[in-house]
Amino acid sequence: MAAERGGVTEPNDAPDRRFEPEQTVCPFCGVGCTIEYAGNETATGVSGPVNARGEICPKGAAAFDMVAHDDRLTEPLVRDDGRLVAASWEEALDRVSEAIGRVVDEHGPDAVQFFASSNCTNEENYVLQKLARVLGTNNVDNCARLCHSSTVAAMSDRLGAGAMTNTLDDLGEADCVFVNGANPAEQHPVAFRSYVLPAVQNGATLIHVDPRENDTTTAADVHLPLRPGTDIELLNAVAAVLVEADLVDRAFLEDRTAGFDRLRDHLAAVDVAENADRAGVDPETIRAAARAYGEADRAAIVTGMGTSQHRCGTDNVHALLNLALLTGNVGRRGTGVNPLRGQNNVQGASDVGGLPSVLPGYESVDDEEARERVAAEWGVEPPEEPGLTEVEATHRFGDDVRAAVVFGENPAVTEPNASAVASAFDRLDHCVVIDLFETATAAHADVVLPGSAWAEKTGTVTNTDRRVMRMRPNADLPGDARRDLDILTAIGRRLTDHPDAFEYDGPHEVFGELTRVAPIYDGMSYDGIGDGYQRWPFAAEDGTGTDVLHAETFATGEQTAPLSIVDPVPPADELEPDELTLTTGRVLQHFNSGELSRRSERLMAMRGEDALQIHPDDAAERGIEDGDRVRVSNERGAVTVAADVTATIPRGVTFCTFHYADPVINTLTGDELDPVAGIPEFKHSAVAVEPIDAAADAD
Ligand code: SF4
Repeated sequence: MAAERGGVTEPNDAPDRRFEPEQTVCPFCGVGCTIEYAGNETATGVSGPVNARGEICPKGAAAFDMVAHDDRLTEPLVRDDGRLVAASWEEALDRVSEAIGRVVDEHGPDAVQFFASSNCTNEENYVLQKLARVLGTNNVDNCARLCHSSTVAAMSDRLGAGAMTNTLDDLGEADCVFVNGANPAEQHPVAFRSYVLPAVQNGATLIHVDPRENDTTTAADVHLPLRPGTDIELLNAVAAVLVEADLVDRAFLEDRTAGFDRLRDHLAAVDVAENADRAGVDPETIRAAARAYGEADRAAIVTGMGTSQHRCGTDNVHALLNLALLTGNVGRRGTGVNPLRGQNNVQGASDVGGLPSVLPGYESVDDEEARERVAAEWGVEPPEEPGLTEVEATHRFGDDVRAAVVFGENPAVTEPNASAVASAFDRLDHCVVIDLFETATAAHADVVLPGSAWAEKTGTVTNTDRRVMRMRPNADLPGDARRDLDILTAIGRRLTDHPDAFEYDGPHEVFGELTRVAPIYDGMSYDGIGDGYQRWPFAAEDGTGTDVLHAETFATGEQTAPLSIVDPVPPADELEPDELTLTTGRVLQHFNSGELSRRSERLMAMRGEDALQIHPDDAAERGIEDGDRVRVSNERGAVTVAADVTATIPRGVTFCTFHYADPVINTLTGDELDPVAGIPEFKHSAVAVEPIDAAADAD
């Protein structure tokens, strides 16, 4: 059967087409390792821009396991009499355009929410956000909302750009690496082993701020096992020591910052011992960390979701930025503030406009000049009012949001308070899901369209250090599945009044349009990227782009960046005396909602079941032994999981991953939002933990 022609790709009826292995980009984390198909469902690492020696981690090696998996969707599904049944592409696309068209006619375009995909290409995400905006709404968001929207908000506000200030290579040149709320040894393994670890082996001090001991801690010189939700107390204490011990960079403060006197006076009132007590750490360890960071010639901050996923996530990052600005660790090699991004294209999905308040290239939707430039390219001006974030939208499903287009995301599992979100999907008039598998979200859809896996795509992705790299196909589409770009352009042509705006000769033509619309991609080209990369902001005279941001002036255009007064914000969930704090995170062998990694037998063999880490004293108080099934509950729901009794987690804190369909740990996480970035508080939930037998008795 021929794929519908969108003028984008070849039909997918070429019999048994075989691909020569071609270098492409790993579909998992934002490091962006280069891999290619090595046969027998195995990927091999090949020398690429990030992994020069061809290193990959277990996830990268298993990347092909899910491509040819039996669970792949191979034909469109439509809901009839409550059941999803097979349908033709024509029928499925008709249902989508008729149902969403009806919602737009009756309620306006803002009644539709678009979920972009941080796991799909720049070109696909660009077309998806264009579809939303040509339809007349800025209601488009991606799961960057859930991981680093607070980081982007704080860094954009203070420095003018919300991405890594430096490069992964730079981490290898640091004398001190201050890792706050991240576990790169397990979550970004090649970045850790190729850049951070060599720096440590060359004498750099590694400071690890994380409630748990994990693989990153093993390599650390200093560990600060803070209570979840006390980053500001801890970081203000570090800043106070920097000022008190005169470890600040006076020249940098004079030339490149504003507001030092005010911050100094504020920090003078910080009692380091008191803040340390609130954070549950030793004050002398805080002082040791501050000295190591302040005395280093080049100190780099690495930050992750432990920092960002709080109701005060933006403030947490503001407190981190103070450390870098106080010590002049910005604008030079081996320094900076470096968020390690999660999905392989979470950076790119945001860069290309998959966000409700900015156009491609992060220009505000209320910027008239930017809208006019976009209109000149599209023939349609995007709306001026910011749209809804994806979490806000789920809170309004069935009210003023009546339809959803979910592209390659699984919000029924990944959103906080997941049971409530799953139910909310059933209140929509129409939901279309484009995905590889029948996900938990697809179970609530009216139409499910079988899309393309990473290994079947052509396009570009942008990694965590702003490098745009090319993806190339290594496999054929299964059955009647279609390439995502074909699907999105087909919907655009049917749904909007501007079908010509969705005619492209291929991903390269979409990329060309992106470079004209998004200033940070201006000057890039498919050919220029080649087997290497081009990094934003791109200027041809810089070769591959700009490595170190903010060197002479900040990306705000200003010579100086402000120092900020940041006060602690208590977590939304207050703990009852018998409750524990639940915090969540990733492990080496799995990834995010697990839709890909759970389909890999080899990854499941490495770690096949989820477990709740609990301290031995907390376990003993509850009569829980290692391996026991436990019930974890709060007002939002309950899950059962095996107990992993371990002293690597502090008393009062429990940890579980969010990789598994059972249990869906986000059943327990709260949807209180950061007021600036709208990021939920994934990292601090109050829970009761009890042995499963006792729970059954109570029931
Ligand atoms: S480090 Fe990240 S990009 Fe590299 S192989 Fe592992 S999961 Fe893939």
